[in-house]
Amino acid sequence: MDKREPWRYEKLTWPEINDAVKKKLPVVVPIGSIEQHGPHLPLDVDMLEVTGIAHAAARLIPNNVLVLPTQVNGYTGHVMDFPGTINIHYEHLIHFMVDIGKSLAYHGFKKIIFINGHGSNAPNMDLASRRVNLETDAQSIAINWWSMLTVDPSFMKGWRESVFPGGCAHACELETSVYLYLNEENVKKEEIRNGYLTFHEDKSDFQWVDLFSAGPGCAVSWTSSYSDSGVLGEAELATKEKGKRAVDEAAKQFARLITEFGNRPKPPRGEHHATPPTFPMPWGQEFSRPTGKGDVHGEFVRTGGKKQRKVAKK
Ligand SMILES: [Zn+2]
Repeated sequence: MDKREPWRYEKLTWPEINDAVKKKLPVVVPIGSIEQHGPHLPLDVDMLEVTGIAHAAARLIPNNVLVLPTQVNGYTGHVMDFPGTINIHYEHLIHFMVDIGKSLAYHGFKKIIFINGHGSNAPNMDLASRRVNLETDAQSIAINWWSMLTVDPSFMKGWRESVFPGGCAHACELETSVYLYLNEENVKKEEIRNGYLTFHEDKSDFQWVDLFSAGPGCAVSWTSSYSDSGVLGEAELATKEKGKRAVDEAAKQFARLITEFGNRPKPPRGEHHATPPTFPMPWGQEFSRPTGKGDVHGEFVRTGGKKQRKVAKK
């Protein structure tokens, strides 16, 4: 194994996995997609960028995390009018992620973090992560890498130049900048053009979209029904320097999240049935039983200066 990258899950041996479980290392699972990103960016944007950010975060805390190889493909059913896009049925994606989570949990890893590189994976990842929480004794979260740029509210104010909403949506100011930083030689710079979503012309209070938020009544449908180029955002504002700043910030905040989540105690569940249920819980959730008496608002203890719940007595 390359000793500079002790966080590479796939480079460990099984005895080393035993050691990692003993150390209670959190495990990161990056999920990408192979999807059109306009005429100027390759199909692998969502895979390459989530990998770059997950690895950059791991380099900040190299002995305190493991990172799985990036799962390449994602859910892109609405983008199939653009050549090259690979779609994984959303049910397959959910099953695939739950299977990864359950494998990790079975071996003893109890903190699992799915990090997403492709917006439309998010609802599926949210559900998969929730299933890992309910169907194993592990804890899991699912995040989008770009959400790490919102942890410090001042970052985007100083970074973003494009219009909101829509300037950062897809193959945009953000994705193009990050790709320029991570893999400049594969960007067709002469092809970089802004692209706008046609429905934004309506200036609706409800139907609008951006990587960082979406309107409260936004129909999500075929990409080709609101864009001809597949570029959704102001790619012409992208620079390599902005890409480096975004990767550094996302990696810094993601490393903080990994550390905090890894150390966060698991709160006990409460049993509130006066008459105990007479058969195991269905839906694949039969694995666990509540261990607490339903006293989660009870006594708090302070650990390391942070307020934490006292684990209920059995
Ligand atoms: Zn993308």
